[in-house]
Amino acid sequence: MFPEFSLRYARLPERFYLRFAPVPVPEPRLVAFNRPLAETLGFDLDAFDESRAAQWFSGNCVPEGAEPLAQAYAGHQFGHFNPRLGDGRAVLLGEVVDREGRLRELQLKGAGMTPFSRGADGRAPLGAVLREYLVSEAMHRLGVPTTRALAAVTTGERLFRRVPEPGAVLTRVAASHLRVGTFQYFAARDDLEAVTTLADMAIERHYPELQGPAPAGHQEGERYLALLEAVAERQAALVAQWMGLGFIHGVMNTDNCAISGETIDYGPCAFMEAYDPATVFSSIDEGGRYAYRNQPWIAQWNLARLAETLLPLFDDDQESAIAKATRVIEAYAPRYEDEWLAVFRNKLGLTREEEGDRALAEAFLEAMAAGRADFTLAFRGLAEAVEEDAPALLDLFDGDTSLRAWLPRWRARLAREEASPAEIAARIRAVNPLYIPRNHQVERVIAAAAEHDDFVPFEALREVLSEPFTAQPGREAYAEPAPAGERVLRTFCGT
Ligand code: AMP
Ligand code: MG
Repeated sequence: MFPEFSLRYARLPERFYLRFAPVPVPEPRLVAFNRPLAETLGFDLDAFDESRAAQWFSGNCVPEGAEPLAQAYAGHQFGHFNPRLGDGRAVLLGEVVDREGRLRELQLKGAGMTPFSRGADGRAPLGAVLREYLVSEAMHRLGVPTTRALAAVTTGERLFRRVPEPGAVLTRVAASHLRVGTFQYFAARDDLEAVTTLADMAIERHYPELQGPAPAGHQEGERYLALLEAVAERQAALVAQWMGLGFIHGVMNTDNCAISGETIDYGPCAFMEAYDPATVFSSIDEGGRYAYRNQPWIAQWNLARLAETLLPLFDDDQESAIAKATRVIEAYAPRYEDEWLAVFRNKLGLTREEEGDRALAEAFLEAMAAGRADFTLAFRGLAEAVEEDAPALLDLFDGDTSLRAWLPRWRARLAREEASPAEIAARIRAVNPLYIPRNHQVERVIAAAAEHDDFVPFEALREVLSEPFTAQPGREAYAEPAPAGERVLRTFCGT
């Protein structure tokens, strides 16, 4: 059933990882399986057998050709450097080449204690696994670069967290699991050879356009500087997309920042409902470091940490290397601002570029903040208000009149778009989702699965989220913000 493995990471020198077989679980049961993804990965589904799949996706049986290992990495957690984190509960099986010819890594998350576990149990609670499954797949459907979820298995074990929970394993698929923290691990050990190996691997896998001999007159260091620049560009685009969806990652530590530009490590992540740029959900983010509005600048901070690891590759002269890196890190800010504007222009139904567009978008956000409007529904509601004020949109804004003043200003701008009102409305609906993984819905799904072994709500929500831009008759409730009693104010990392 498994596609052939094409091992890359396992062929790196031994100091990049520790070989480690998943720890068997007592009663593996497949509770979710992503068939379309399995097909694109080249799985042979004619031979699909649920109980065998449960053996594989729990780690009880290692597929032929896989060489399981735990990757080494370091990371800044909430600003504090830890030189040795590594996969404490994840095992990389290896890479496969998918139907589009792309390398994809398969990883079992929750596969048991590894030498990097640092006293923790190496397992993942079912709630965290289902959240990552739902949210990562939703992000993919929303058009955001992300790791994917291939399968979820319950283990038959009970884990002791805040409350006892069933144990589970998630099979995660990623372009790679190279993180800023992977570079930091080796830089902290002054292992320049390893940093170079990682940089070359990142270029080969994620930025192949930077390959090839350096043009005449150019130094080899420029390739690595171009790598930093390319990673920065992807991070700017990624975070702008998050901002456009009201997505809060929750733990933007450098070990959770992927070099590929994919969203990775869904822990206490959540989508904002009532718009407030200071929103924080994660219970462990006491200082609000990873609040919605801080995300773009945290990404830049993380890039600066990446730059530090690469300095010796940029230039033999340290001062000159620092000057080059600084220019790239500084260029991130205007780059991000451009990406942000492109995202929000689209959200407002604009395709032309005009001077006042940023102010127009910001004024809408200010009206949303003042009226505590639901971020997702407010943008979606604009599709109804292209020609005249729509009561459903106005109702989202409590007691605030700034929206009434803003709408005519927006319509005056739309008039210069050379598109009919119907075309503009269609554009708005194509980029502003109706359905997002709302926290209370995710919590309901988790409670049904963890407390009653009922996965029907999970399947239902997964299906709704597979078409986030299309109104689905009979599923209106999924588009609604949480009722007062179910509002989620805190999320937990589930580690
Ligand atoms: P995360 O917060 O999921 O990004 O994890 C940060 C670090 O803690 C990583 O090194 C993880 O592998 C490790 N970790 C998280 N949860 C567990 C667990 N239950 N057992 C062992 N290690 C864990
Ligand atoms: Mg992590």
